[in-house]
Amino acid sequence: MTRRWLFADQLGPHFDVGRDGVLLVESRRALTRRPFHRQKLHLVLSALRHRAAELGDSAVLLRTDTYTGALHELGEPVRVHEPTSYAADRLVRRLHATGMVESVDPTPGYSLARSEFAAWAGNRRQLRMEDFYRFQRQRLDLLVEGERPVGGRWSFDEDNREPPPKGVERLDVPPPYRPREDDIDAEVRDDLDRWTREGLVSPVGADGPRVFAVTRREALAALERFVTHRLGVFGPHEDAMLRGDWTMAHSLLSVPLNLGLLDPVEVVDRAAQAYRDGDAPLASVEGFVRQVIGWREYVWHLYWHFGPTYRRRNSLQARTPLPPWFDRLDADEVDAACLQDALAGVRDRGWVHHIPRLMVLGNWAAQRGYDPDDLTEWFQTRFVDGYDWVMPANVVGMSQHADGGAMATKPYVSGGAYINRMSDYCGGCRYDPKKRVGDDACPFTAGYWAFLDRNAERLEGNHRMARPLQQRHRLADLEQVVAQERHRGDSPP
Ligand code: SF4
Repeated sequence: MTRRWLFADQLGPHFDVGRDGVLLVESRRALTRRPFHRQKLHLVLSALRHRAAELGDSAVLLRTDTYTGALHELGEPVRVHEPTSYAADRLVRRLHATGMVESVDPTPGYSLARSEFAAWAGNRRQLRMEDFYRFQRQRLDLLVEGERPVGGRWSFDEDNREPPPKGVERLDVPPPYRPREDDIDAEVRDDLDRWTREGLVSPVGADGPRVFAVTRREALAALERFVTHRLGVFGPHEDAMLRGDWTMAHSLLSVPLNLGLLDPVEVVDRAAQAYRDGDAPLASVEGFVRQVIGWREYVWHLYWHFGPTYRRRNSLQARTPLPPWFDRLDADEVDAACLQDALAGVRDRGWVHHIPRLMVLGNWAAQRGYDPDDLTEWFQTRFVDGYDWVMPANVVGMSQHADGGAMATKPYVSGGAYINRMSDYCGGCRYDPKKRVGDDACPFTAGYWAFLDRNAERLEGNHRMARPLQQRHRLADLEQVVAQERHRGDSPP
């Protein structure tokens, strides 16, 4: 008899629970070694305890200081699936060598095995997301007719970049699935309150009602609700932001997906079915499918492909420490409406959608030259869907351009004009997105030019940056902008 040891992000039925029972572990060290968001701790503990309750007698849930301590307490070898971080991978390989882990099996948490990705990557000079995504669509026979994409295009990104509708506070779309808390959540909340009082955990962010699915039943309900009521609206406004609408038409499925409660293939199959049934337009479905079996899986494989030192890459030599107000999520110290709302969203829910992450928080950090490794840690611990494998490619590669262009062909920095076009923030802000100098100069607009000026030499060979780098010479007030931004230092805008 060999139990299956399941980590807290391997909780769905597609992870083999076998006939011999399951080991689940609440490791105090895993919970306390980093300042996680309070709601992240809640979601992980709640998911683990709900899974243990579902499995009943076939599961053993151990609460120990360390994973190794749990295996000693269990006193018998276990089988595991490949874990999702270098640290956990090293641990299970070590335990495998001692015989405490009998086998390390491929993970079913992603549609493509790591060995298959390695074969796909082969000797390619560039690992382009677009190529990987096509490969995935063809391999999974998803929205394709023979060799060709349904609708004649692989990407409907062009159709999915609309600004928010004018004059509305919220998108006209039914609200997302909302789980109902139960006794297990109450117990988790009591434990976290007590551990915080006793100094065992030091969570950041606010506590709040649970808004994400933590069980298989809840995850399926959230998927169904999204596909049936919200997917159709998702596409066109997926990059838009409204101050009064934190969910927009996003799925909120990243948490249950990253807890391993949903098989990514069942998720995209359900979305494709909605298209075939005429319930959702192709552009929306394609945009969603791209996120799940394109971007998400690409980022997963790049985590292993680039290796453990990737997150320390720093090609723009960004060394600014995260200022305390940013680190602590002190949104109330911030006047800039877009940044204030994004930070408040992280503080209050541990989640904002991909555009506030990339074009507000990440953009701000790149402009100020925050250290990319520290920033990766910040995103990983402050976001409820953040895990070791999720953030390096997203932050170091995509948002901070710290990998020298291995992932993205240019830095994702922009001035206030982009935020103004894609949101309703600027109208209610004390800054003016068109101004780069003066008391009401938009810190994003000024920061954009200061970023270009600071990194001009490092970006010189990048042909996509040639025009903006040239344009800065036409600014009569560039020196003033740079001096003003230097003077701003690390104070909140
Ligand atoms: Fe953000 Fe600038 Fe717009 Fe204010 S004016 S909301 S700081 S982009």
